[in-house]
Amino acid sequence: MRALQIESAGVLKVKDVPVPEIDSDEVLVKVAGVGLCHSDIHVRHMPEWPIPNMTLGHETAGYVEKLGENVTEVTEGQAVLVYLVWACGVCRPCIEGRDNVCANNGGRLGMPPCPGLGPDGGMAEYMKVKARYLEPLGDLDPVTAGPLADAGLTPMHAVNGAQHRLTPGSTAVVIGLGGLGHMGLQILKATTGARIIAIDSSEQKLELARNHGADETFISDGETAAKVLALTDDYGADAVFDFVGVQPTVDLATNIIAPDGALRFVGLGEGSFTYAADALTSTLPWGVDVRRSYGGTRSDQRQVIELAKLGKISVDVKQYSLEDGIQAFDDLEAGNVPGRAVLVP
Ligand code: NAD
Ligand code: ZN
Ligand code: ZN
Repeated sequence: MRALQIESAGVLKVKDVPVPEIDSDEVLVKVAGVGLCHSDIHVRHMPEWPIPNMTLGHETAGYVEKLGENVTEVTEGQAVLVYLVWACGVCRPCIEGRDNVCANNGGRLGMPPCPGLGPDGGMAEYMKVKARYLEPLGDLDPVTAGPLADAGLTPMHAVNGAQHRLTPGSTAVVIGLGGLGHMGLQILKATTGARIIAIDSSEQKLELARNHGADETFISDGETAAKVLALTDDYGADAVFDFVGVQPTVDLATNIIAPDGALRFVGLGEGSFTYAADALTSTLPWGVDVRRSYGGTRSDQRQVIELAKLGKISVDVKQYSLEDGIQAFDDLEAGNVPGRAVLVP
């Protein structure tokens, strides 16, 4: 079969590889569509890459092709989404419903195994998955549903963790209206009463945000914080979601968060957040809670699928063939993908 692999640091190739063999608890999924995440761009540029010849792709949907002998959870031909977090299911965080931070993750700063970032992912004609990591898609089209596994899941988790601040009358700010951000905006609209301000460095992305119902849109520049503060009587925004994570966006998020606000860092740029405890010099308002938000729980994943089934959220998809996958990487990196790029094998 064909697969898009990272062979070694910085080297991506579309090439022939064997179709995976499945174990008794696994399923062979015929990939229908796989999203390209900006995290894949970060991976492409890592100076060292520890897993030679790994198939990328962590936003995979497809059809059940073949079942291991002990699999009872799904049936042949069923449309399924591959859940992102391959958690153990039995540790304390897992049984508390916090499987996105499973303790079986390689330590305090690690993350649970994730297809396409360890085990082989979905940028291929076929992918093997333990049956318990599959979510039925019902009538949703698996060609375009893959991004629900991360571009949908991750903002769902970030928004769910801030619901207590997002009452009618509140203000939410979304920074970065790319794959994650355009879904985050729709999730905010579908599940909260907040006024939504969208901020991006690209006018094209702000246009997309307006199409999805953003109440206000601002280009990010030196004036953006003042504009947000002016809209909130200088009190600030009740929740800020930074889907970029570079220094200017981390600073912006920190400078517009309201007292008791929910500050959510999701983007994995090279910015850093500093905190001064001293009452006289601290620039962080009282009560702000800061979360470095990772992925989402199985429950968040179910909610994303349900919102998509109801037509309340949808992925803006730009399709590429798997053979043109590296072009999709180049286009995403150049800022030329509105919504999400999806590779179709
Ligand atoms: P994307 O490329 O689709 O979107 C990024 C958006 O940010 C684009 O619209 C771009 O125009 C905008 N942008 C870039 N620089 C900006 C700036 N200085 N100010 C304002 N806007 C700016 O990326 P994506 O796939 O949505 O991923 C976003 C980030 O989230 C990446 O860093 C990715 O690695 C990370 N991520 C984190 C998690 C997690 O669990 N924490 C999960 C998935 C992705
Ligand atoms: Zn991702
Ligand atoms: Zn666990």
